[in-house]
Amino acid sequence: MIMNNMVQVQERKRLYIGLLGASLLVVGLLTVAIWYLVFSPERSLFYKLVLLALAAVLILAILLASFGLAGIVLTIIRSRPFALLQGPMRVALNTFFPLVLGLGKIFRIDMDRIKLSFIEVNNDLVHARRLKIEPYQLLLLAPHCLQYSECEHKVTGNVDNCRRCGKCGVNDILKLRDRYGIRVGMATGGTLARKYVRDYRPKAIVAIACERDLTSGILDANPVPVLGVTNLRPNGPCFNTKFSVQRVEESIRFFLQ
Ligand code: SF4
Repeated sequence: MIMNNMVQVQERKRLYIGLLGASLLVVGLLTVAIWYLVFSPERSLFYKLVLLALAAVLILAILLASFGLAGIVLTIIRSRPFALLQGPMRVALNTFFPLVLGLGKIFRIDMDRIKLSFIEVNNDLVHARRLKIEPYQLLLLAPHCLQYSECEHKVTGNVDNCRRCGKCGVNDILKLRDRYGIRVGMATGGTLARKYVRDYRPKAIVAIACERDLTSGILDANPVPVLGVTNLRPNGPCFNTKFSVQRVEESIRFFLQ
């Protein structure tokens, strides 16, 4: 069972890395086409100069992203960071992300599968950095949909409004906060999540959310490292969601130990 899970996780990571490689290939082919147009005799000098500048930008992006892709693969294999390749890795992960999604759409791959793959690649890269921080420097971000839908206490803005009745995961979030002395924020969406990050200025974040929100959160928080834990949705999306306390606690302990 554990072996099976590990194989599945490895396969999921390969999806994002494979699509990233394919995106590089697409941009490479586009650059070759532009290069061909530069030497076409029918074009004016101005037109050729614009195409040449575009080709130069694309070549630079391809070079950076190729080093970044190599850095991502080597970091995952060795579980150790490459300080020199951090910049190119960011270009490969962040700048090429829309292209990866676009390719996924063309190949009719489920968007959530791609985003989950991105989250797992990101988590591996964060693990490889082995960052150790003080509890007050760690922010645990949780989505508002964890709250029991019939609870009348407003916990966004002030999580201490929760009466800790234990009917939903907000109680567990508070237990984790009290056990580790970390900061927590319950967010209704990206705007409030960004506000928590601005206010607390954390050195690292553990975030619970769906694949879509986690992906945008990881990209938004960059360069602050985020360990993402996908939520569980036994009642459908955005309604009385749950999370694995064990996985979140492991992520918290990773930064604190
Ligand atoms: S644990 Fe807190 S937020 Fe959840 S239902 Fe009880 S009082 Fe409401």
